[in-house]
Amino acid sequence: MLQTTSFYAPPSAFQGEWVTLPSDEAHHAANVLRGGAGEEVVVVDGEGGWYQIRLEEVRKSRVVGKVVNRRKDVGESPYDLTIGIGLLKNRRRFETFLEKAVELGVRRIIPFVSKRTEKEKLRRDRAERVMVAALKQTQRSRLPHLEERQVLEEVIGAGPNGLGLICHEEVDQSLTLRGAVSEPVTGQIHVLVGPEGGFADQEVAAAADAGWQPVSLGPRRLRAETAGIAVAAGIQFLGS
Ligand code: SAH
Repeated sequence: MLQTTSFYAPPSAFQGEWVTLPSDEAHHAANVLRGGAGEEVVVVDGEGGWYQIRLEEVRKSRVVGKVVNRRKDVGESPYDLTIGIGLLKNRRRFETFLEKAVELGVRRIIPFVSKRTEKEKLRRDRAERVMVAALKQTQRSRLPHLEERQVLEEVIGAGPNGLGLICHEEVDQSLTLRGAVSEPVTGQIHVLVGPEGGFADQEVAAAADAGWQPVSLGPRRLRAETAGIAVAAGIQFLGS
């Protein structure tokens, strides 16, 4: 039966060949599954584990199944892409970025505060829920690591171990994503996207000094979440 969504259970939910779905997943499973015991579903563990599970017990409070087949990194992108993005004032827009980043195979997200960010806090509980929902819908097997909020200087200072790009609408449009990403890309790619107000010039200069390559995403001024999504999509197609 073509399954429209997978279920999510962290590695700790697996004991040998058995998995017990976490309570909210059990509740969801009991609601959507018609067949009950004997039915087979896909469960992903968010760290690249993909499991075909035969359900043995289906109750609203508890769903237990047995692993009948397992694969690794189903639905994953060949790129190890990290996107650092300024904390957005608009939480809905930030959550839209998170959802699309999951769908587009991003591996790590670093929310940062910078000169022009107007938000200090990140609602991690909501962010995790948005990302897990996207993980199940998009049927990939890795949940992007949403890092603790950092200060831009820290992110820049750490330097990009691997290819590091900083997206800035003021740079010369000849500095394209394609030009910066030599194919085939191997290893990690780190891309920085500013908040609604963008990066201050000295932030871009400091990044360039630390080895981050400024890139243009074209002649139009994209919203921060659009820029993040465009980068995630662009990197996928550069190498495919
Ligand atoms: N400072 C401008 C744009 C900020 S857009 C303003 O006030 O409207 C938010 C972020 O999206 C920017 O910091 C940059 O990282 C990215 N971005 C948007 N359009 C871009 C473009 N054409 N080229 C490169 N980066 C872009």
